Amino acid sequence: MSVHGSPLRVCRSCDQRHLRDILSLGRMLLAKALLTADQLAQSEETLPLATLMCRCSEFS
Ligand SMILES: [Zn+2]
Repeated sequence: MSVHGSPLRVCRSCDQRHLRDILSLGRMLLAKALLTADQLAQSEETLPLATLMCRCSEFS
């Protein structure tokens, strides 16, 4: 998860920073950001979309 280009690198449950990359879907277009006819010639903003996993959510 990111907030406009700042990748999440801290677990939202335990605040640890040891997150493991599980799945990367590359850069994706923003949801709910449809272009108007005037904006079609402009480039669209993309952000990285990935799934990360923390040790606190692993079964042992
Ligand atoms: Zn955690």
